[in-house]
This record gives sequence, structure tokens and C-alpha cells, in this order.
Amino acid sequence: MRNPNIVILGAGYGGIMTAVKLQKSLGANDANVTLVNKHSYHYQTTWLHENAAGTLHHDRTRIQIKDVINTSKVNFVQDTVTDIKPEVKKVLLEGGELSYDYLVIGLGFEAATFGISGLKENAFTINSINSARMIRQHIEYNFAKYNNEAEKKQERLNIVVGGAGFTGIEFVGELANRIPELCKEYDIPREKVRIINVEAAPTALPGFDPELVEYAMNSLEARGVEFKIGAMIKEVTENKLVFEKDEQREEIETNTVVWAAGVRGNSLVEKAGFEANRGRIPVGEDLRPEGYDDVFIVGDCALIMNEETDRPYPPTAQIAIQQAEQTAANLTRLIRGEDHLEPFEPDLKGTVASLGHNDAIGVVFDDKKLFGWSATAMKKIIDNRYLLKLGGVPLVLKKGKLNFFH
Ligand code: FAD
Repeated sequence: MRNPNIVILGAGYGGIMTAVKLQKSLGANDANVTLVNKHSYHYQTTWLHENAAGTLHHDRTRIQIKDVINTSKVNFVQDTVTDIKPEVKKVLLEGGELSYDYLVIGLGFEAATFGISGLKENAFTINSINSARMIRQHIEYNFAKYNNEAEKKQERLNIVVGGAGFTGIEFVGELANRIPELCKEYDIPREKVRIINVEAAPTALPGFDPELVEYAMNSLEARGVEFKIGAMIKEVTENKLVFEKDEQREEIETNTVVWAAGVRGNSLVEKAGFEANRGRIPVGEDLRPEGYDDVFIVGDCALIMNEETDRPYPPTAQIAIQQAEQTAANLTRLIRGEDHLEPFEPDLKGTVASLGHNDAIGVVFDDKKLFGWSATAMKKIIDNRYLLKLGGVPLVLKKGKLNFFH
């Protein structure tokens, strides 16, 4: 009898952790495990805002896949998935196709633009190394260009971030640290540059503890971030953003809009025919969509409900990693002929949002609030812990955030 084929799509948190766990739990002759990813590297999505602002080089964020997988146990295919065909158990790639007995989908997120006029065409999003690198270079180009034009254009120095959720806040925090350096480098007075954060909800960081929200806003405002709260973005063009607040229409001249206000699951998954809910696929407690015993979905493509709040769990790296560990354990059971799968129960350890490299807020161990240095240190501990799980001490030493004082 031939070995079963396990195909894992995407080497984000969910995909790569499934592969790393399977290579430990399965013998080389138990199954053929194949990991497919667009790039030769895995990147830590949770650090991309730093690359986009230019406060951390993108080579720190990416990890070569062959450095963490055991190629005698996991076959790595660098290719782009174009179609998933569950009815014939195949995956189509730009450069070929793969057949599977078990499929793990971890293709991550894409921006949800809610039909806002011009947003898709004119705004940047932080969703990959390439997109982060483009934002950094775009901002630097505009700073360089500013002093090289006879007519000084303010739109080059106004940076607008759509959304004051987790990603938007973390990004403006990095920008607030980076802009003074850029001003020095390009001979631009700091007061000429505006960082404007536009949020439709009545508060920044909706869902966060109000005391932490206030701390975050004070910290960011002190470093020059302007907030437009309760402001609905209506339109984005090449050189302006239009929003409505208190029934008044306002415009900001800008050619840098970064959209950080909504994500959905990768649209390839919905296209494959799985029933979707706002771009994410509802899965059962074994992380399989109803009616598909051979498909597991991990990370941002999966939708799981929090029974206590009757709302979906937010898409996070923390949950993607835990789902991957659970899926690898359940696949190992299936390969060994067991039919009982363990249910997935998220074990939420808290949330920490950075406000630049030197400040942060968070809630850990159920209700312990952290501010400033202690939150920054906790964030680094969380990041290093992930690297330890993924590639052991050598990876922590190579890519970890080991300076707790900066
Ligand atoms: P991803 O990590 O997005 O990985 C998807 C992978 O699939 C990528 O490697 C991609 O290249 C690959 N891929 C996509 N399409 C294809 C294709 N067609 N073919 C082949 N490969 C493909 N969460 C937290 O828990 N804590 C945080 O502090 C936090 N901070 C964040 C900060 C930022 C700036 C952002 C953007 C997100 C943050 N998140 C955080 C959310 C977290 O990053 C996501 O929930 C997490 O990345 C989801 O993991 P995933 O495995 O589903 O997908």
C-alpha cells in the first residue's frame, strides 16, 4: 500500500508549524508530507509593520524554510497555489499539480476593502515581505522627492493609516519612531510631517481595555500621531483620502495611505467551494469544514466561534500556531489508524500590542494589564518563544529579539 500524501498549503504560522510538528511525530515511511509556499522563506507576519516603517530590516523577519524543515521528512515545493479542487483531491499550482489524501490549508489573509472607492487601487496593505518593503521604499522616496521639487507638495509628507485596530496602532507606533530619523536624513522639519490614523469605530483599539487604549493614544499623540476617531473613509485617490466624521466631509492630501482596517481569509479557499462566512471558512472542533473529512483549515482562513461571546475568535498568530499543533497531532492519529480526533480549544495567553520599539500595552494571564517597558519585554518573550518552538535555540539566537532594553 502506498503512503498517504499530506499536502500543506502556505508556510505561514499555521502551515509551517503543522509541517514542523509532523516531521517530529511521523516517521519518514508513515506519510509523504509536502509543504507548498509562494516564497522560499517563512515570514513572521506579526513583525511586518516594523519592516514597513523601516525600523527593522526584512531579513530579520524572514526565515528560510529549508532552515527549519527536515527535508528528508518534508518535501518543500516553492510554487503558487492557483486552485484547490476538493472534489478530485487535487491542488493546482502555477507550475504543476499535487494530489492529496489529506490537505491542510494555511493560506492566510488578504485585505478586506469593503467596497470603499479607490482603496484597492490606491492604498498599500501590510501583508507580506514584498508589500512591507514597498511601503518603506515609497515613504523614503516621497521624503527624498519633497526637497527636489520646486513646488513643495504636502501630500508627500502626509501618511494616513486606515484603522486603529491592532495592526494600525502597531504600525503608527513604528512610524512615530522612524519619522524623526527620516526627517534628519532628508532635511525635512519634523513638524511638516503628519501621521494620521483614521478609525471608523468610536474608539481606537476596539475591544481593548479602556485604560490601555488611553495609555496607547497618549503615548502615540505625544510622538506626533493624530487620531481621527469615528471617521469613516469614503474614498482614496492617488493624492487624497476623503472621510466623513460627524456628518462632515473632510479631505487629507496624501499619496501614502496604508489600509490596516480589515482582513478576510485568502479568497482561493472560498473559490474552492467551501462554504464561507465573510471570507473565512467555518470549521468544526476538529478544524475540518463540514462534509470534508480530508481537509483541515488552520489560521486566518478558518472561522471558529467563541461560545462564551457567541462571536468568532479574531484571526491571530497565537491561534494559528495552536491550531497547527492540534492538526499535526490529529493527522498523526489518522495516519496511525485511530479515528478519534482531539477537539481544538484555544488557550489564549493574552494580547500585547507594541507602540514602537520602546513602548507597548497588553493583557496577560487573564487580566493582568501591562504598560511600557514590561509590555515591551513581554512582547519580545512571546516572539522569542515562537522562534524556539519553530527552530530551537539556534533560531532564537539568529532571529530573536534579545535586546530587552531597546
Ligand atoms: P500567514 O501567516 O499570513 O501565512 C500565509 C502563508 O501563505 C504565507 O507564507 C504566504 O506567502 C502563503 N501564501 C499565500 N497565498 C499563497 C498561494 N496562493 N500560494 C502559495 N503560498 C501562498 N497576531 C497575533 O497573534 N499577535 C500579534 O501581535 C499580531 N500582530 C500582527 C501585526 C501585523 C502587522 C499583522 C498584519 C498581523 C498581526 N497579527 C498578530 C495577525 C497574524 O499575523 C495572523 O493572524 C497570522 O499571520 C495568520 O497566520 P496564517 O498561518 O493563517 O497565515
